[in-house]
Amino acid sequence: MGQREKIEKLIFQLLQEIGENPKRDGLKETPQRVAKMFDELFMGLKSPKFADFKTFQKKTNGELIVVAKIPFYSVCEHHLSPFFGDVAIGYIPAQNQTLGLSKFLRLVAYWSKRPSIQEGLTEIICQELTENIPNDGVGVLLKARHLCMEMRGVRNPNALTKTQCFSGELKTNRQRRVEFFERIKEES
Ligand code: ZN
Repeated sequence: MGQREKIEKLIFQLLQEIGENPKRDGLKETPQRVAKMFDELFMGLKSPKFADFKTFQKKTNGELIVVAKIPFYSVCEHHLSPFFGDVAIGYIPAQNQTLGLSKFLRLVAYWSKRPSIQEGLTEIICQELTENIPNDGVGVLLKARHLCMEMRGVRNPNALTKTQCFSGELKTNRQRRVEFFERIKEES
């Protein structure tokens, strides 16, 4: 049995266990649909690690570059329910090397397509950029809605959870951090 088929079987059983009839009309194809969707939602677990940090030459003078409103969709590792929102990334390029916009989008997509928590996702994005592109500092801010909080328990609809992570000058220099937040405000 292939992996896709195993997941289909498990979803069929799950539907039975929650008291549903997986053979009724509306649910007949649900196990296949869910298995197919999981391929996409958890793609990061199977793809080779994102490593395309190819930068290009551009004269920079220690100015802060901000890329805001990068959308992301992930699955909370505590409840396997979606959390989603947007990411703002700021960094201070070094050695006159900058990273193209598409690389940021793909880095965020790669790490969000797996079960995760918002803090962990924020930290890994910050860490990967800090370690892989020439920089004097990186800042990452995530704003997200968590369906596990909104649909159950505390039920606080539309509550935005914010997490942030900084390295280099953005961590040590308060002025630059203020600049980071001001730039994000302008971009949104
Ligand atoms: Zn959760």
